[in-house]
Formats: sequence, structure tokens, C-alpha cells
Amino acid sequence: MTPSPPGEIAVTLKRSGRILLLTHVHPDCDALGSQLGLGQILTGMGKEVHLYGEAEVSHLYDFLPGSETVTVGLPDLPGFDCAVALDCGDAYRLGREMESLLTVKPFLVIDHHAGHQFFGDLHWVDPARASTGEMVYDLAGALGAEVSLEAAYCLYAAIVADTGSFKYSSTSADTFRVARELVLRGVKPAEVAGKLFDNYSLARLSLFQRVLETLQLHENGRIALITAPRRLFAETGAAPEDTEGFINYPRSLKSVKAAVFLKEAESGMVSVSMRSKGRDCDISQVATEFGGGGHRNAAGFKRFDTTIEGLAAELLPVLADLVRRC
Ligand code: 5GP
Ligand code: MN
Repeated sequence: MTPSPPGEIAVTLKRSGRILLLTHVHPDCDALGSQLGLGQILTGMGKEVHLYGEAEVSHLYDFLPGSETVTVGLPDLPGFDCAVALDCGDAYRLGREMESLLTVKPFLVIDHHAGHQFFGDLHWVDPARASTGEMVYDLAGALGAEVSLEAAYCLYAAIVADTGSFKYSSTSADTFRVARELVLRGVKPAEVAGKLFDNYSLARLSLFQRVLETLQLHENGRIALITAPRRLFAETGAAPEDTEGFINYPRSLKSVKAAVFLKEAESGMVSVSMRSKGRDCDISQVATEFGGGGHRNAAGFKRFDTTIEGLAAELLPVLADLVRRC
């Protein structure tokens, strides 16, 4: 059976004229693809849609059709009939305008994070789904709405990114069903893959070279750790978001059960990306213990006033405990 959103979500969207679409800060491709895709679907239904972003769309994702329609700066919030937060597992991830954004009523939430912390008024949260993008496609079905090629392109990119190209254990028959339907609408998988994975700048490849040199293995090769200290960004000219995808390389080692990437995104602030393999190795538990969250096999957190070395020393025993159990 095709999973569908709670009826109230479709009903609310159908009767709303002005709709605010939101996602999490530092949006990844699933976040932006879902926001842009739903934006195009609702616009096609004749709705007036406003896409809010805390920052300009990263150069990594400006290939997504409609990326220029994301607007930085708060709009006139009382003017909206509802808001929808997409791919956001926690109200705090709405960013610095969280409190103002939450004043829009009703506030709808569509998400697939395992450790979802409920907020807002109406929810469709399904951790069995591999991406928010595929949920948005099923929402379009419930709305009886057209999915244009542009919307299909955004949703397909969201799915490919969040499933690691259909590799992660979250990938399901529903993922392939939606991907198939998007391809039938004209999306070219090779073109999207090229934009997502063969689009490196020289600065990004130089940073990657330096980051790979930091590889450390622990627990008989079951844990792999890489780091990106602040100075590497200055030395290579790469931006913090250019590290997207680096974590897949320590993860790719045969012996590895858990991979971790510690990035000093700002001076004194370390952002941690973690990956694990298999159904029995739940890395989101580790992320939650450190105040973050995520999915069973992909999770993360941030820590202020710390150093890469200090945080690694704190994290490694917890990861060792995890990999001994999986
Ligand atoms: P990535 O390693 O790709 O940045 O993040 C993987 C997943 O971990 C994301 O999809 C997100 O669910 C989660 N995640 C990453 N950073 C944070 C964070 O700071 N807080 C929370 N709650 N989740 C995070
Ligand atoms: Mn997602």
C-alpha cells in the first residue's frame, strides 16, 4: 500500500492560499529538494508560496531548479494561512528565527528523522521513509496535484542524496517506486548524479586530499576518523560546505562499522558527521547522547568551545562501545 500523509495535512494545504515553506538550517539536498519540489507543486495548484531560507542556497545545490526562489529574511508572517517545515527533526533546526516562524498557524511538519522531536500542529513523520523528497511526492498524490519536470528533478535529487545513491539501509521499495515515477516524468538520473557527485571545484578536491591524510583507524579498523581543522579551509580556499560527501570515504573501508568526520566549521565550533553500517549499528544513539540527532546510519551534532582533539577523545570511547555491539 502506498503510504500517504494524514488527511488533515492535505486538507489544510488545499484550503490555504498563502503557504510558507521551511526547512532546516544548513540545508542538505533532501531539505532543499523537498522545499523547492513542494513549492513548485503548490505553485502549480495556484497557491502563493514563500520559500524561506536562513541563508542563500549553497553553490553545491544551486543546480536545483528554482533555487533562486529561496528568500533570505523573514517575510510578513501574519499573512500566511499555514507553514510547512520539511526534513526538520527538531524545532531548533529551524534556525535563529525559530520562535517567529512557529507563530504561523497551523504549522505542519513533514519529516523522516528517527529521533524526531515533535513540534508544530499537524505531523507526518515516518522514519521508515528514506527521504523527505519521496514523502513530498506522495503528498502530491494525496493533493491530486501535478508534478512538473522541475519538481520531479528536485525530489529525485533529494532522494538520491539522502539514500547515498540508493545504497543506505533506509532505501525501500517505496524509494524505488517514487524514483521510477519521477524518472517517468522525464528526470535523467545520470544528469542529476553528475550535478551531485561530479561537480567538484579544485579547492574542494585539494581539501579532500588534505582531509584524507588525517585518516585514523581505531578498534581494529572498525572505527575510521577524519578531521578538517580550520586552517585547511584557509589553505585550500574551500568553503565549509565543500566537505559534503567526504564522510563516505572512511565509511567505504571494508572493516569499518562506524565512520566519523570532525570539522572545525568555525573557530572553536566543531561539527560532527557520523555514519554506521547495518541495521544493528545505530549511530543516532551516539549523536543523541551528544545533543544532536539523525538516522540509524547517518547522524551528527555540533559542539561549541571545543577542539577537534578534545572532542575526538570524548567521542572515541562511546563509538568503541557501539562497534563492539554491532
Ligand atoms: P550529515 O553528516 O550529512 O551532516 O548529517 C547526517 C544526518 O545527521 C542529517 O540528516 C541530520 O539528520 C543529522 N544531523 C547532522 N547534524 C545534526 C545536528 O547538529 N543536530 C541534529 N539534531 N541532527 C543533525
Ligand atoms: Mn532527509
